[in-house]
Amino acid sequence: MSGFSMALSEDQLAVRDWLHGFAADVIRPAAAEWDEREETPWPIIQEAAKVGIYSLDFYAQQYFDPSGLSIPIAMEELFWGDAGIGLAIVGTTLAAVAVLANGTEEQVGTWVPQMFGTPDDVKVAAFCSSEPDAGSDVSALRTRAVYDQATDEWVLNGTKTWATNGGIANVHVVVATVDPELGARGQASFVVPPGTKGLSQGQKFKKHGIRASHTAEVVLDAVRVPGHCLLGGKEKLDERLARARERAAAGTAGSSGGRNAAMATFEASRPAVGAQAIGIARAAYEVALDYAKTRVQFGRPIIDNQGVAFALADMRTRIDAARLLVWRASWMAANQQPFTAAEGSMSKLYAGETAKWVTAQAMQLLGGNGFTREYPVERMHRDSAIYTVFEGTSEIQRLVIARTVSGMPIR
Ligand SMILES: Cc1cc2nc3c(=O)[nH]c(=O)nc-3n(C[C@H](O)[C@H](O)[C@H](O)COP(=O)(O)OP(=O)(O)OC[C@H]3O[C@@H](n4cnc5c(N)ncnc54)[C@H](O)[C@@H]3O)c2cc1C
Repeated sequence: MSGFSMALSEDQLAVRDWLHGFAADVIRPAAAEWDEREETPWPIIQEAAKVGIYSLDFYAQQYFDPSGLSIPIAMEELFWGDAGIGLAIVGTTLAAVAVLANGTEEQVGTWVPQMFGTPDDVKVAAFCSSEPDAGSDVSALRTRAVYDQATDEWVLNGTKTWATNGGIANVHVVVATVDPELGARGQASFVVPPGTKGLSQGQKFKKHGIRASHTAEVVLDAVRVPGHCLLGGKEKLDERLARARERAAAGTAGSSGGRNAAMATFEASRPAVGAQAIGIARAAYEVALDYAKTRVQFGRPIIDNQGVAFALADMRTRIDAARLLVWRASWMAANQQPFTAAEGSMSKLYAGETAKWVTAQAMQLLGGNGFTREYPVERMHRDSAIYTVFEGTSEIQRLVIARTVSGMPIR
């Protein structure tokens, strides 16, 4: 490698500008409407599919960028447009990443295209890990998967909650336990193909923010899926379970320790989620900056007050710092650098907290207008709040960072 550069390539700049145009022309103007409707914005997803933004090809191209930066750049621009619609457009990728991280090449080829559908018949996908009694503690999953050797099928039973696109998805990826005694090590991920009997949507949640993104319970009642729907295949699972049982017998691993299917998905997606938060923060900062330059009180623009100008300086500084953490983690992941200081978690923690803080500052700088739905910052603030909760809460990110950097079993 010759030298060090932080300049984006021409390709990256072109993708950024293209997505920014789509976010500004299509997503942003529709944001308030879909937030009020609290429904999946199918026409916008379809438009994204028509121009090639909602497609397997698009994400595959971005994922293969060796710098790792194309995904965070794409996320930031789409979520700059609007986070609810942004999540409706990219929610499918969480399920796709689960298949990419845990599945065989054949499984990727079979299921991922069905997650997106076609521009004329768009589909979405859902990743179902969380349960009513297993949120931060992913080792506590109760959804069971039992193998039926006679038919070479897996039978899934349980209730999933908080699933983005749950119940409306064409393909669901479900994390279930095959051996509860092994905790997280006894879990595996399964594809539930379109139209499978026994899978139904439970309650659809009415949310504080990202309201254009559908979030619901998913009930699995004796759902039978063919053996080939186990991600990674049975041989690999049996080997993994045997190793985990040996370790458990030797007392070398706690039942909840170690890498598991859900964690593999989260690790890969944390910096990308951080980039979404940065998109929201940047959007709110830009509105606040414009407002501070034009709003006149005491005969001068409010930005003439150091208190206001310094708030904007801090907002911008934190946004840029968050982006650097996200880009570092993304580069490391793409270049097989191990996260020895939990850099992925660091990036998500800081970006999520930054989005919440920046959007709150923006509301304050807009005064009474910031409190109304006439201006977008109150929506951005509501949307930002999920970024300290999903994909691991801020507390869980701190736990991961603290354990990683200290090597201590911090609880
Ligand atoms: C809008 C939305 C979309 C979502 N999408 C998906 C999805 O697509 N798929 C999916 O599987 N899940 C999804 N989730 C679930 C999300 O990942 C969980 O809500 C999150 O992991 C937190 O779990 P919980 O809500 O059960 O909170 P809990 O785990 O019950 O946490 C409650 C509080 O306790 C704190 N806490 C818990 N344990 C500790 C600890 N050890 N130390 C310190 N503090 C702790 C937490 O930080 C939090 O503040 C979604 C959630 C929402 C709200």
